[in-house]
Amino acid sequence: MSSDSFSSLPLSSALIANLDSLNYKKMTAVQAESLPPILANNDVIVQAKTGSGKTAAFGLGVLQQINPRFFGVQAMVICPTRELADQVANEIRRLARCIPNIKLVSLCGGKPLRLQADSLEYGAHIVVGTPGRIQDHLSRNTLVLKGLRTLVLDEADRMLDMGFYDEITDIIQYTPKTRQTLLFSATYPHSIKKMCQSILKNPITIQVESTHASNVIQQLFYQTNQQQRHEALLTLFEHHQPANSVVFCHTKIQCDQVAKFLNDHHIEALAIHGDLEQRDRDQVLVRFSNKSCSVLVATDVAARGLDIKSLYAVINYELPHDPEIYVHRIGRTGRAGETGLALSLFTDSELARIIAIEEYQDKSCTTEPLDRLNRQNHYRLKSPMVTLQIDSGKKNKIRPGDLLGALTGDAGLAGKQIGKINIFPLFSYVAIEPKALSKALNYFKNGRVKGRFTRARLIQ
Ligand code: ADP
Ligand code: MG
Repeated sequence: MSSDSFSSLPLSSALIANLDSLNYKKMTAVQAESLPPILANNDVIVQAKTGSGKTAAFGLGVLQQINPRFFGVQAMVICPTRELADQVANEIRRLARCIPNIKLVSLCGGKPLRLQADSLEYGAHIVVGTPGRIQDHLSRNTLVLKGLRTLVLDEADRMLDMGFYDEITDIIQYTPKTRQTLLFSATYPHSIKKMCQSILKNPITIQVESTHASNVIQQLFYQTNQQQRHEALLTLFEHHQPANSVVFCHTKIQCDQVAKFLNDHHIEALAIHGDLEQRDRDQVLVRFSNKSCSVLVATDVAARGLDIKSLYAVINYELPHDPEIYVHRIGRTGRAGETGLALSLFTDSELARIIAIEEYQDKSCTTEPLDRLNRQNHYRLKSPMVTLQIDSGKKNKIRPGDLLGALTGDAGLAGKQIGKINIFPLFSYVAIEPKALSKALNYFKNGRVKGRFTRARLIQ
């Protein structure tokens, strides 16, 4: 019988004490099953849904192995996108904050190669990055993996979907054969199985229940037709009035069209998909997570793996072909013991997809006629916050407390009018209540943060 307390694991007492301070009281199911074999140095394949705590599973496995006195890369995590790499880097940093002198370097596109190469030269223990950029550094010899002990492939299914197979196999050529390899994935399609055969040694496979307990997410299906899909979506909003939601679409064009339609009908929405510039993607994600936007219209690629907490509803504008993707999408609502809501529109031509979902979940789908829903004539969905972009960031050594201090001090805002603060290298974003907006903007006409003249503008 495995206990679900972290202290049952062969981890240093500092790591365990830190977990307690992070309020990680018990292991999640994935952690309880995967950490023992990971810490015993096995190759491990882990398949579990988003939000199940996979990062800490490999993060702890990695940290337990690091020798801070050896200045070389001992662990490397490959992630599909920069956002995911940033999330992983942040989580590992949090887990590592009890261990002095551990250096983690992020290697993602969009940042100067030179600066990253300098950081590597100073000595990095852990590298977290995206395939293309890691490859760049390997080919320039600015990244050397001779001392690598652990290689982690996070969101492996996504990486294959995005066409990174060749990059990954190329990167692996630079790593020692003696390495430990850990592969994490939300789904386990055939392509992953095949890749595992060539890069993992006698792996232990761990699969954690991929469907939510069925009562945690209420799933409702609504039949419509192609011409009325937009209108049907509006009906769903008017009836269910989700405080925040992600609307899933298939294509980028669809995302843009749906977001525009919702905005035209006074439901504030932002589209996110792979065509956006990195900075715009960051902004959209910041605005969604800080409550300046209540509806995100996204493709699977853009939304996957993102750690959006307590999502009121997931809406499928169209059903995905693969029932596993459906389950994955709806898994974003009703996290952490809350009840979630999954609403799906479908047309005649998507009936086969409903059947596939029923078979996959081994239960029938509940359909509700759209015309039984209460339509609200003047329904509007306004976000509770707005976002200011501040033209100072990490590079200017700005910390959240500096911005909070300036806004509640000289600018005269009340603390409760200020929401989430995100600091990026060159910019920072502050969520504030719309009522406080003019006061804040006025302040920044002449205001200073940390003694430096700093400008701000409203993002819209
Ligand atoms: P996944 O990679 O499986 O999608 P994450 O690693 O991003 O999931 O974890 C989801 C959330 O759960 C994160 O906010 C993380 O901080 C939190 N978390 C992870 N492990 C624990 C734990 N043992 N106790 C409490 N919260 C946890
Ligand atoms: Mg993850």
